[in-house]
Amino acid sequence: MSGTGGIRGRRGKAPVVPALESVAKPEPKTASDHGVCASVARVAVLAPVPTAFDYAIPENLSLHRGDRVAVPFGPRVRTAVVLKVLGALESTETQRTLKEIVALLAPAPCLPETLLGLLEWAARYYLCPLGEALATALPAAMRRPENAPLPTHQVWRLAAFDGSQEDGNDESKSQGKSQGKSNSNGKKSDQAPRPKGPRQVALMARLAEGPLSEHALDEFDFDARAALRRLTERGWVVREHVSDSAAPRTATRPEPDGPRPELRPEQASAVEAISQDFGRFRVTLLEGVTGSGKTEVYLALLEACVQAGGQGLVLVPEIGLAHTLAERFRERFGPLFACYHSGLGESERLRTWHAVANGQLRVVLGTRSAVWLPCAELGLLVVDEEHDESFKQSDGFRYSGRDIAIARGQRGGIPVVLGSATPACETLANVERGRFAHVRLTERALASQPNAIELVDLRAERPEHGVGVRLQAAIAETLERGEQALIFVNRRGFAPTVLCRSCGTPIECRDCAAPMVYYRRQNRMQCHHCGATRALKAPCSCAEAFEPVSLGAGTERVYDYLVASFPDANVARIDRDVVRSSQRREDVFKALASGRIHIAVGTRMIAKGHHFPGVTLVGVIDADARLFSTDFRAPERLAQGLEQVAGRAGRESRPGRVLVQTRNPEHPLFNELFSAGYPAAVRSIMLRRREARLPPYSMLVLVRADAPEEVEAMRFLAQVEAGLAQAFPLIEGASELHALGPFPAPLVRKAGTYRAQLLIEVSREAGLLQRLAGIETCVRAVKARRALRWAIDVDPQEMG
Ligand code: ADP
Ligand code: ZN
Repeated sequence: MSGTGGIRGRRGKAPVVPALESVAKPEPKTASDHGVCASVARVAVLAPVPTAFDYAIPENLSLHRGDRVAVPFGPRVRTAVVLKVLGALESTETQRTLKEIVALLAPAPCLPETLLGLLEWAARYYLCPLGEALATALPAAMRRPENAPLPTHQVWRLAAFDGSQEDGNDESKSQGKSQGKSNSNGKKSDQAPRPKGPRQVALMARLAEGPLSEHALDEFDFDARAALRRLTERGWVVREHVSDSAAPRTATRPEPDGPRPELRPEQASAVEAISQDFGRFRVTLLEGVTGSGKTEVYLALLEACVQAGGQGLVLVPEIGLAHTLAERFRERFGPLFACYHSGLGESERLRTWHAVANGQLRVVLGTRSAVWLPCAELGLLVVDEEHDESFKQSDGFRYSGRDIAIARGQRGGIPVVLGSATPACETLANVERGRFAHVRLTERALASQPNAIELVDLRAERPEHGVGVRLQAAIAETLERGEQALIFVNRRGFAPTVLCRSCGTPIECRDCAAPMVYYRRQNRMQCHHCGATRALKAPCSCAEAFEPVSLGAGTERVYDYLVASFPDANVARIDRDVVRSSQRREDVFKALASGRIHIAVGTRMIAKGHHFPGVTLVGVIDADARLFSTDFRAPERLAQGLEQVAGRAGRESRPGRVLVQTRNPEHPLFNELFSAGYPAAVRSIMLRRREARLPPYSMLVLVRADAPEEVEAMRFLAQVEAGLAQAFPLIEGASELHALGPFPAPLVRKAGTYRAQLLIEVSREAGLLQRLAGIETCVRAVKARRALRWAIDVDPQEMG
């Protein structure tokens, strides 16, 4: 939930007028215009307003929960979703003043009960106005107060003609047949068709078998469109737009022609164990290193689910991963499969939404928002890379896709599979408590030997360009053997910091409390927080004497150094600055997979779930960045990142080597991770969390406040804290929640705004939703200037 200090609503937009108040012209109709009103609908308007509103239902309309309607709202007409149809007397508002619903928007019903109920719960849990949650969950085309265009496609079919000649020649007989099938509302031709020439005859013969769709026209070896145009002009053929959902539902069985590896015993027993849960709720953690064959397990489970008449939903943390996996899914499920993510166009998303709702699509692979797809026959939910922080939305409706998947499984009585090589602490804690089942894949499907991991002490070497002596030698050996190397760098640009050599002043962003990053090719500085750029100029009074010193190494610097050191190698830089489009991304990954790229220098962008058979060396330039972070999740993320990155090496027959450069080789986290592995490392991370009463052993809610002045943000949060102390008093030394702070955010100033936080630890026991609502009430009760923006983040993933 978020808001401003002033009138409820978003900065820069007109304040919202509740339905009760009269509005500017044109005066909307009210119930009294029609005399008595039959009933009233309580709706959630698709806008960030915290309450539901009542509207009169026009006499000619019959409404149901879940319907999408257009309502007058403030000066505009907006989309709303009906939550409840009330008897006329149930509404708290006087009927006479109720405004009337403008229209029921097609297609209906908008949201199945399973989804609407889930959204209502999620909106309460994440303290987000229901209307805003709904707006997030629906495809953009359904948010506008118009009939969402039903996805259609074009077809040509024979026109009907006045059938007195039905017993005529052969031609008209075949026509008559097709009339019976497809003619219900088409034009009528008063003339029996007499096609001219072989093309028209061929087309008419084909049309007699049934309607022709756009893509079928390409099968003809002549210009079928031109011939159809002439037939249409004569009135013998009609062109129509038919709804996609009117298309016949394809067989529910996946076609068994795709290649299918025989499952290894481990995989087979994972499939066996999880399919026991079909038809009931249970979460299973499927833990297996990258390459252990988790995806094959998902595919086998999905196939079983689809064959049993169910639908399957697979969530991945990012679009790139969806692209990578889509091919394997398409091979298996063909036209029963689709992707759903923000990289798709609006109409494509709408089309998928409908095809899922009407059951044409049986398997969908998507990012976070796919968890809201209206599968009526959902039978299996899979969350791949479940530990990934991208499952949490970071603004607006701050939900976790993984946790919603679990909640959806629970409400629907559906098994949920969480897959990861490096499970999140939250998930492991649930396994510990016996709430989740746990299945392991211990062997790699293709690799023969485990990777050797070496820590490289950088304290003596301190290479300016990031690549130490040992790493450089290892790269040389790898190239000599004709193999590939992946080098991970955690910063983009040339150098993360630039100082003045004589006085030591760093170049900082004017609007953020952070140093700017140097880009050598542009010879410019860029802020990675607000995006501001500026020329490389003295940050101090040294002016003419200013001599910049670049500290640290980003992708650009490491790349430049490796290009100079290995002139015969093909080196590629892979980060968001150079790989912008998904097409470019695919190209780069193909080049890597085929071996054309010898050394890839990149950010975590190359780490996630990709398979590059020729890679035998992985280098990590600087493992220390997250070692001393103030975020309590930093060690977990570091361990996950390193494990993930190390998993990129030696995935097939050749063993891999992993070099991790650090200035803290004796740090216990490294020791544990590299001698005993992720499970041991994460176990001690969890022990420390338990001692410090941090998640997963407590529940956190973060209240953020942003204001032009720091004192303002701090004062606001201090008042919230005082309110909380009053609302949740200490009873016998204990309280249902207690607040820590307020304190300045780790990045205290961003884009010119000061940022502060109040951390609240909440007891998860019964009554949680009321406690959460109590927090929101306390926040809303504090008066603040309009320029102050606040937000409540339940289960925050990033403390920045
Ligand atoms: P993960 O999802 O755990 O990273 P994948 O399912 O992608 O693992 O498997 C890694 C590779 O091994 C893929 O190329 C996959 O096709 C192959 N693979 C998985 N299981 C088997 C199997 N039982 N037999 C042969 N190849 C397999
Ligand atoms: Zn900035």
